[in-house]
Amino acid sequence: MRTPAETANGFPLQVAVVGAGPSGCYAAQALRKGQPDIGIAVFDALPTPYGLVRYGIAPDHQGAKAVSRQFDRLFGQPGVEFVGNVSVGTDVSLEALLESFHAVVLATGLGTDRQLGIEQDPDALVIGAGDLIRLLNSDPDARLRHRPAGPRRLGSEVVILGTGNVSADVARLLSKSDLDFIASDVDDDALRAVAPAPVRTIHILGRCEPHAARWDASMVRELAEIVGVHLSVDGVPLLGEPAAAPRTTVNVRFRQVPVSVRRHDGRVRVTTHDAGDSTRVGHLDADTVITALGFDPSPAQSARFGGIEASNVFRVGGPATGRLGNLAENRKLAAETAKGVLEFLRDQEPPHRTGLAGLRDRLPASVVSFEAWQRIDGAEVRRARPDRCRTKFTTRDELLAAAAGSGALVSIPTATTAALDTTGEVK
Ligand SMILES: Cc1cc2nc3c(=O)[nH]c(=O)nc-3n(C[C@H](O)[C@H](O)[C@H](O)COP(=O)(O)OP(=O)(O)OC[C@H]3O[C@@H](n4cnc5c(N)ncnc54)[C@H](O)[C@@H]3O)c2cc1C
Repeated sequence: MRTPAETANGFPLQVAVVGAGPSGCYAAQALRKGQPDIGIAVFDALPTPYGLVRYGIAPDHQGAKAVSRQFDRLFGQPGVEFVGNVSVGTDVSLEALLESFHAVVLATGLGTDRQLGIEQDPDALVIGAGDLIRLLNSDPDARLRHRPAGPRRLGSEVVILGTGNVSADVARLLSKSDLDFIASDVDDDALRAVAPAPVRTIHILGRCEPHAARWDASMVRELAEIVGVHLSVDGVPLLGEPAAAPRTTVNVRFRQVPVSVRRHDGRVRVTTHDAGDSTRVGHLDADTVITALGFDPSPAQSARFGGIEASNVFRVGGPATGRLGNLAENRKLAAETAKGVLEFLRDQEPPHRTGLAGLRDRLPASVVSFEAWQRIDGAEVRRARPDRCRTKFTTRDELLAAAAGSGALVSIPTATTAALDTTGEVK
């Protein structure tokens, strides 16, 4: 491989990754493993790294969230920068990145819950599972979407549409008592706002046959094993509390094809028909419908990046496959994408690129570096309730104040773009 003139941070090759979720972090890891002398800048629109590890994976699944520790080690390496609070396409253009880096990897995930796509009253009480779990994970942008009134109460009876792992996550989170959240980082204020007490009745409807449900058996078992939960599938009780004594009943019904969601007597009515016989129509009334039907790219992302094709622009995760996937799948995809990037770099005679240093004047003032993120991280752990592992900040202003460490908005373009010379010292 040709070695272009060394750049300000001492690395001859420069790659930008857009999105510091698992796909972006796994891609950066694989790039570094394949070619240790690559400078990598990982941009994220949020002030915090790790995407849905922080704001998607359920707050009571700390084991799964612990993948963030291996990403911490990635950002501990010289020449791998976190560039937080910078939305590519808004704060800095993709074109500017292409001028400063040899290749750009788009790892922006899938931003929004997939819509129902059936007849639906505009004012019917429907919320996406992704949006709900982002709220329970203190996502500052999810909070904003629910302002000014704040998140709405879900009520004592809800319908969840979809039988994947996210559906099981929602049912579990809504049927747990306060004690069941010990050692989690659930947003207690948001949880109390949407469900002051565990939801009494949860109906989960799936279009498919039971064997085709996408959730893992372990997720269903975990739900059934919550003390106070009675779980039945198509009317047959599974493990769990006897029907006479439960706090929450969860009724799973398969082969139910949703036809419409309507307002009905101040509640919401879901009309379904049997998957094998469209004349067999049924109605279910509840306080809220939660859709857990997968994710779509946000319209803004599609508008920004949808049509951009260049030989040095690569995609990984949702933007490549149209599916959010899980961590293991995205790790594999990221390794394949990194291989493609490395092959591209090997085949080229790369021109000189400055990397992050060249963008110094084009980035907003409030960039969050990895060190600034660590200040947020530490502050959230320190302020946690004794029975919680962390209490997250819930607004961008709070996050930025914690990043600055002094209550003021952080302004650290020189820290994040600090140029490492070849001896590894910060210039
Ligand atoms: C409720 C829920 C529970 C889950 N639980 C599990 C689980 O237990 N185990 C498991 O393996 N998987 C789980 N997953 C799936 C897992 O979260 C995903 O596989 C993974 O997060 C996808 O990673 P990603 O990097 O592709 O996307 P994301 O995690 O969404 O990351 C994308 C990142 O890109 C950033 N971004 C977007 N646009 C821009 C832009 N224009 N400029 C800069 N940055 C941008 C976003 O801010 C975000 O940080 C769960 C998902 C959900 C929704």
